[in-house]
Amino acid sequence: MRILITGGAGFIGSHLSDRLLADGHDVIALDNLITGSTDSIAHLAGNRRFKFIFHDVTDYIYVPGPLDAVMHLASPASPIDFTRVPIQILKVGSLGTHNALGLAKAKAARFLLASTSEVYGDPLIHPQPESYWGNVNPIGTRGVYDEAKRFAEAITMAYHRVHGVDTRIIRIFNTYGPRMRLDDGRVVPNFIGQALRRQPLTVYGDGKQTRSFCYVSDLVEGMVRLLLSAEHDPVNVGNPEEMTIHSFAETINRLTGNPAGIIFRPLPPDDPRIRQPDITRARTLLSWAPTVALADGLAQTIAYFRSRT
Ligand code: NAD
Ligand code: UDP
Repeated sequence: MRILITGGAGFIGSHLSDRLLADGHDVIALDNLITGSTDSIAHLAGNRRFKFIFHDVTDYIYVPGPLDAVMHLASPASPIDFTRVPIQILKVGSLGTHNALGLAKAKAARFLLASTSEVYGDPLIHPQPESYWGNVNPIGTRGVYDEAKRFAEAITMAYHRVHGVDTRIIRIFNTYGPRMRLDDGRVVPNFIGQALRRQPLTVYGDGKQTRSFCYVSDLVEGMVRLLLSAEHDPVNVGNPEEMTIHSFAETINRLTGNPAGIIFRPLPPDDPRIRQPDITRARTLLSWAPTVALADGLAQTIAYFRSRT
């Protein structure tokens, strides 16, 4: 297949590019580098089946030649971006998704939207199945991301129903691995960066909030399986192993031998208290389940950050 990945120079987009190229596909990565970097795809520069286009997907997208699939990953995704570039987030989720869908329609290509567990907001149902409609504050600082992704899901389903576009929606839960930016702001690079600098880890709030961390190769496997499936309704992909952020911080300090401990910092507004995917649909429809244990995934990620500091 000839596959376009928007956000292809990002953390997940670069791993997805690697995987699709390894599977024998041609890949075009399209990115405006607002949070991504060509460092993530530099190793692909000499590959004849890989092409990079510098472009903002909120502007009309022109791609010459046929396309079999459009995988729409473009969007800043770190909570620090929610206050840094909120309007760009709203635009990429709305205008950017509209353009990416228009491209898929024009090329008669499959379309996959990278959605998020954030559509569930601060969930009142636990773990979260796809049937849950969520609990989102539309006017909060996180709302720019949550509502942009909720709009993106809505317009994806509308293009499917009205124009017959062959769409998929993956709801990604916290994913980590090499090629995250050290200054990304999300908890995994923050904690590992602090630990390697022998600083105390900044736990926000009381650290009792929970998350469930999925290694990037597991996520990419789920994404590819969903793309190749015939499923149009959303599918959660994430690792159901849930832990408190406090215990996650202790794990990072233990794995890195950091003696500096933990300090507490204020909790950002609307920070979800709990998050764990119900992956029954992914298991049933895609025969998918995560395979990489947290300790193994973190060892890879710590080694990557160590090599960069
Ligand atoms: P990332 O910031 O590394 O990658 C996003 C990429 O999109 C970047 O390369 C960025 O430059 C690009 N981009 C943003 N706006 C753009 C625009 N207007 N035009 C072109 N390119 C643009 O983040 P990531 O973690 O790789 O996330 C990829 C996707 O997965 C995002 O859509 C994100 O919302 C979703 N997601 C990620 C996670 C996670 O835990 N990593 C969880 C849920 C959802
Ligand atoms: N967090 C933290 N310290 C940090 C960064 C994040 O305690 O230095 C917390 C954050 O408040 C949230 C969790 O870790 O409860 C996961 O945060 P992240 O930014 O990775 O993404 P989120 O899951 O909130 O979208």
